[in-house]
Amino acid sequence: MKVLSQSANTMACVSGSSKVWSLCDGYVDLPARLLRYRNGKTGRQAVSPPQEEPLVRLSVNCFLLDRAGSDRILIDCGAGGSWEPSMGHLEEAMAEAGIDTSSISVVALTHAHGDHINGLLTPDGRRTFGNLSKIVIGEDAVAEFLAEPRLADFRPLLAPIRAGDRPVDHLLAVAIPGHAPGHMGYLLSTGEDDILFCGDLIHVPAAQFARPELTWAYDADETMARDSRIRLLQEAADAQVWLAGAHLGRPGIGRIVKAGRGYGFIPAA
Ligand SMILES: [Zn+2]
Repeated sequence: MKVLSQSANTMACVSGSSKVWSLCDGYVDLPARLLRYRNGKTGRQAVSPPQEEPLVRLSVNCFLLDRAGSDRILIDCGAGGSWEPSMGHLEEAMAEAGIDTSSISVVALTHAHGDHINGLLTPDGRRTFGNLSKIVIGEDAVAEFLAEPRLADFRPLLAPIRAGDRPVDHLLAVAIPGHAPGHMGYLLSTGEDDILFCGDLIHVPAAQFARPELTWAYDADETMARDSRIRLLQEAADAQVWLAGAHLGRPGIGRIVKAGRGYGFIPAA
């Protein structure tokens, strides 16, 4: 995979006949105590004196896949206007990358949490993608999507999938259970590289690559999420699969290498 260009909130890469953009929706600062240790300690206890509330910064990344002869697919679409004003900037990132929002016909969601789905609408309530025809989503994530009233109009576009399905022929849906119902990764095989769009496999890269056993308080099933992370990081390191994650810092794409008892992350640059 080769980096073609990079700007403040975007990066474009090419691999084989596929082009991949990383597009930054923004970031959110959250309490470090949301990180959980196996012994019951939280990130707050582990990283600083108790009188201060330390924060960890989570980037919010979306990814756009472009391949000649195929629909442009956006993987996750950020928070829209549903959360902090530091998020919901996908439309600006796309403008920065020179991408017309009307060129997006398919959105593939990794799961139905607010920071991944609400960008279907802009912060001021417009439809972000004027020509959207399909929203690919894990079948077990559909109920959570439908529970978001502001997205009710998108219901007819939902295209539920299961692990092993192929939303398009070069993209394979991969179950990553634990973080949320129907949490799904998408494996892109370009002929030159395998790139796994891994959603929320990792929330705090500075901690969870080195210590993949650390869980996140928003995991629906922390034990299952931990098992998924440990297994997939091992597989990605062994098979030299690139990881592209919603919260993997900027630009959110890189390789992982074994380091001590855990892993190191080497961002594409
Ligand atoms: Zn997330």
